[in-house]
Amino acid sequence: MTVPSITLNNGVQMPALGYGVFQTPPDETRTAVATALEIGYRHIDTAAAYGNERQVGEAIAASGLDRGEVFVETKVWISDYGYDATLHAFDKSAGKLALEQLDLLILHQALPGEFDLTIDAYRALETLLADGKVRAIGVSNFMPNHLERFLDATTVIPAVNQAEVHPYFRQPEVLAADARHGIVTQAWSPIGGITFYRDGSPGSTLQDPTIKEIARTHDRTPAQVMLRWHLQQGRSAIPKSVTPSRMAENLDVLDFELTPEDLAAIDSLDTGVRGGPDPEVVTREAFGREIPEA
Ligand code: NDP
Repeated sequence: MTVPSITLNNGVQMPALGYGVFQTPPDETRTAVATALEIGYRHIDTAAAYGNERQVGEAIAASGLDRGEVFVETKVWISDYGYDATLHAFDKSAGKLALEQLDLLILHQALPGEFDLTIDAYRALETLLADGKVRAIGVSNFMPNHLERFLDATTVIPAVNQAEVHPYFRQPEVLAADARHGIVTQAWSPIGGITFYRDGSPGSTLQDPTIKEIARTHDRTPAQVMLRWHLQQGRSAIPKSVTPSRMAENLDVLDFELTPEDLAAIDSLDTGVRGGPDPEVVTREAFGREIPEA
């Protein structure tokens, strides 16, 4: 089963469906990623802040796959923003991943109160791109106003904006801004993980009656329906699971098609309620943490 690729705005091909490792403890990450690669995932999404880049790298090295077969994406944490600090953040991440070149390096968050620092960090990504250390660069959790401010001050349009997108929080204004600029939206919590693993949320997308009914008509699971929804609307998605049967389930979404009515019904479930932190309130004081050396 070959996952279709999305062509990024600089021509680089990225498997549309990837495998995320947020909240996967380091001591479980190597096995989880090894299993994901065995099952057929060829795109892994990690982050300096997840504390498991080393184990991701170990699993890739042990897989026997050629380097070019696995698309590796990671993120620079806000504590490492600034031109020199972000260049060094690449060394830390690449060192832990034991890779000379990363496929996609993104800024994990904007710092709205320190936007110049965010831009300096991105300038470092532009340098890394020009030097061939990374194949593509991008951002995460950028709201349309962040993108507008950003595009005025930088040269390379981000290839990807990784953002919270699931049926209960669709962020149509982010999708539209990304599309306007040729930026691929990559959905985090694509099956709505944050709606069921975090307290106080509006309920689980997995239990949604509309999604369950669509799943029933296609003889699929709710998770598969949500992933199909992303793919058919042109998004990348990076579901996370440490459960091998779910990893396989989440990849097995390539041989069925949702109808336009199905897609519209899922779109209509948007509650407008965010699960993750509001990107406007992210500061180094509140969210900063030291990222260890490689
Ligand atoms: P997901 O929508 O991927 O959901 C993950 C949760 O769903 C886990 O609890 C998992 O359990 C469970 N699960 C997975 N597959 C199934 C299934 N088929 N049926 C039922 N339950 C299932 O949410 P995440 O928040 O983990 O997001 C995915 C990835 O996005 C992250 O791993 C990370 O790479 C990225 N991310 C990025 C953020 C950012 O700020 N840029 C923020 C959050 C995530 P189990 O593992 O026990 O099987």
